[in-house]
Amino acid sequence: MLEQDENTLPDIPTTTFEALGLCESVLTAVREAGYKAPLPVQAACFAPVKEGRHLVVQSRTGSGKTAAFGLPLLHRIRYEDRRPQVLILAPTRELALQVHQEIEKLAVGTGLESVCIYGGTRFTEQLEKLHAGVHLVVGTPGRVLDHHRRRTFRTDSVETLVLDEADEMLSAGFYEDIRKVLDALTGLQQVLLFSATLPPNLQGLIRKYMPEPVKVNLSQDRVDVDRIDNVAYAVDPTQTKMRTLLGVIEAEDPSAAIIFCNMRHTTEAVTSYLRRRGFDAALLNSDLCQTDRETVMARMKAGHQRLLVATDIAARGIDISFLPCVIHYDLPDDVQQYIHRTGRTGRVDRHGRAISLLTLKDTTSIRRLEWSYGIKLKLLETPTREETLKMLADRRIREMKEMIEAGRVIPDEFQVMAREIMADPDSESLVATLIDAFLTSKPLSEQPENSHGSKHRENDRGPSDRPPRPAGDRPAGGGGGAGGSGGRRRR
Ligand code: ADP
Ligand code: MG
Repeated sequence: MLEQDENTLPDIPTTTFEALGLCESVLTAVREAGYKAPLPVQAACFAPVKEGRHLVVQSRTGSGKTAAFGLPLLHRIRYEDRRPQVLILAPTRELALQVHQEIEKLAVGTGLESVCIYGGTRFTEQLEKLHAGVHLVVGTPGRVLDHHRRRTFRTDSVETLVLDEADEMLSAGFYEDIRKVLDALTGLQQVLLFSATLPPNLQGLIRKYMPEPVKVNLSQDRVDVDRIDNVAYAVDPTQTKMRTLLGVIEAEDPSAAIIFCNMRHTTEAVTSYLRRRGFDAALLNSDLCQTDRETVMARMKAGHQRLLVATDIAARGIDISFLPCVIHYDLPDDVQQYIHRTGRTGRVDRHGRAISLLTLKDTTSIRRLEWSYGIKLKLLETPTREETLKMLADRRIREMKEMIEAGRVIPDEFQVMAREIMADPDSESLVATLIDAFLTSKPLSEQPENSHGSKHRENDRGPSDRPPRPAGDRPAGGGGGAGGSGGRRRR
């Protein structure tokens, strides 16, 4: 965590966008976005970023960090010079896209030309944009380096580098790529680091690339927020973990949730399990093709998808403003990751709920969580097998009754069939078969099933963010391709 020192800004008084000195078009854009006043991190960062200072910013999840660097950078860009002046890097494609969208939203009317460059998509469109001239580039490190190598991205004009989720970007998996990017940015004048969690060991980088940085620490070493309820359910050893999850979803009944798993194959198993039981569950992991990743994310953000079962690909930065609940199906290995996953709920000033499923082996992780962040998980009573099954049945009955009440027309043949089934000695099995067929044939989601079943962790480091390779060559972690990066974790 950041220490306070003489460069640390004091408490920021509440202010207005007008008082910050936003230009007319950006003022209109923030109003259009529905932002009434700058959030504390935005008020704190505006002047120093605009003045070209280096910044190290720690501010909790959902506190408005994107606009905190976006707004002043829009005032720093020289619009008459259409060479890349700002490069913003993010750890996943989803986050890069989101950051790009937020900045484009704020830049309406400024004349900003920008591009988002990330893997899994065709080069052509990105190339055309770069070729036409852009002021600002958002991207993931792998694809940015590819464009640099192909000389399609002139890195020497970049003056400002932003590392969103800076601690993740400087962790072992990304460090090599970031170092290469830093070497390529020969005209670099300003580095901005933003995250909710910043470890103290960034000093080497700060000393080398960021003399006399302004430090903004709005977390006061409490990265977690009071408005999030951290609760837990012990996995009942007589039930499977998935059955426990089912009981928890039924008992908690969140209107929407992201369910985080540590492994890709677990996300696949959990998604299938939930869908089979009639839940509107979608899958997000890096085995999906880029189009499916974007479709799923868009459905979730639009509120059209109730449950998203995801790897840590969705842990950092993703903003689904209304998301009421995050479920840690597996506790993350790294306690910081708990903060980031949990931070998908309780955005800005909303209330959120983080639910963990605990097995015996999680005891040490919980201790570390308590010790590092002072988070105490409130243990709730796990629904028993009988309670879970009853809740599930009640829900289905309720749904069917709603269909009848809505005036659903049932053909006569079915009424006769129902009578015959009830008179049959095997009626229970017959009805169960019907329910099974009904639930599995229901169009629960437009997302295609994914059955690759790979057993690797993942993120957007490495081969998947490289240019498309010949058909049949699937990034599977470890298997050839990116020299020296076989040890990279993938989400
Ligand atoms: P962080 O990066 O700190 O996790 P984001 O930049 O993703 O947070 O912002 C969280 C949410 O807050 C987004 O939905 C964003 O549109 C919204 N937001 C940003 N600035 C403001 C503001 N000044 N007033 C209200 N909402 C804001
Ligand atoms: Mg963010």
